[in-house]
Amino acid sequence: MIKQYVNLPQDPAEHHGADLPLEVEASNVSADNVRYAEWWIEPNGDNTPERYLSRRQRAHLQQRITRNRRDHFANTLSLPHVGGDRYDIKCSKRNDRNSAVTIDTVETWRKLFFSIYAMDDRCATHINRVKAPVLSAMRDVFVELVEHQSVRTQVQENYTEFRNGLRHYYQDPNAADPSALPNRPFHLRVLVLLRLFQPMPTRYNPTTSHIVHYQNTVNELMEHNWLVSARARLAPNGPWRDVTAQCRRMGARQFSADLTDQREFWDGLHNDSRNIELDITVREKFNAAGGSIGNLVILAIMDGDQETATQFSIATMVHELGHACNQVIDRERTYNGRGSPNGWDVNSQWYNNVNGGVGDHCNLNASLQAVAVSVASSGQIYRPNPGQNTCVMYHQMHPRIGQDYCNQCKPRVKRADLGQSALVSRNWNRF
Ligand SMILES: [Zn+2]
Ligand SMILES: [Zn+2]
Repeated sequence: MIKQYVNLPQDPAEHHGADLPLEVEASNVSADNVRYAEWWIEPNGDNTPERYLSRRQRAHLQQRITRNRRDHFANTLSLPHVGGDRYDIKCSKRNDRNSAVTIDTVETWRKLFFSIYAMDDRCATHINRVKAPVLSAMRDVFVELVEHQSVRTQVQENYTEFRNGLRHYYQDPNAADPSALPNRPFHLRVLVLLRLFQPMPTRYNPTTSHIVHYQNTVNELMEHNWLVSARARLAPNGPWRDVTAQCRRMGARQFSADLTDQREFWDGLHNDSRNIELDITVREKFNAAGGSIGNLVILAIMDGDQETATQFSIATMVHELGHACNQVIDRERTYNGRGSPNGWDVNSQWYNNVNGGVGDHCNLNASLQAVAVSVASSGQIYRPNPGQNTCVMYHQMHPRIGQDYCNQCKPRVKRADLGQSALVSRNWNRF
């Protein structure tokens, strides 16, 4: 069987590219000295249904009949961009399909390269435990990941803010093209670091009768630019007043608003025992287990002071690779029998930021629950159903997160376009 890597630029010797050149000796087709051979293909696997493929994308032979040239017949098979399609390639003397010979069987694959940048020995050991199961989960969706190199990051730090593509980890500032990777845009940079966070605005809206108000936060405050906005009023309907200048960072997880000097609030409190309403938004370090942007995949191995369990890091890596492969997809074009656009296939398990997380995710075995608008803008978030495993593409780590793609996601990853222009449009040549 031929494994053809349909997403890569054409290279017949490596079986790269969507076009597979075919050649067969005339004597193998028929004992007779035939002048014309007839070709066809037969699907022979769990192939992507044709309704997901346009006319141009569908598997087809360049010619149906070919002529004998120096006792050989030659043809070219064009394959779809999807993974896991399998075809028997058949050939016979013209108008004699009963005497067909199978030239070969081809299976479509996608190949991607990856380089690991581990922050220290612990990160390198951790990713080595995670690697084999992750590669296996990707092979299940016909993505073969080929390791290019494993090196150390250029800097070490305990906390890493997820921004600017973390170029200081892998770029040599003295190199002419510091971001050059072979096989761009098919090459993933996998950064393995200790702790990862994103600055996340969080709103606090307490009512207090104290003049100095302390607020403890769930996550650590940013060292700089931790305050987004602050205002106060006499509840319930006094005019809002900007109290940004009255706010102080008191510690890693604590800030205060000191309204001692605000004459208006004093008077209000003394006169009729009303409360002060504060409306403060701060930036906190929202911890993330991993991240994905373009060809950059990030894994954080620490959860506070604890090293993350291997099973969760496997889930994180498979999850981030899912994002890198354009998941979770909300809807896909479908095509009629002739291969012309005809309708859409809607993914009933898709949801996005509005119902939790950052980006597009899968709600298998999860249900909407009411939450504060500050948690999810719709006021509803997907939470795992008790006792059930979610898809690996659920938006948050939890004890029963799956280790691989669910039955809705799997065929979609198989259908993902990992060709050059699709990857460039998703910034795979940026990092
Ligand atoms: Zn995600
Ligand atoms: Zn899923």
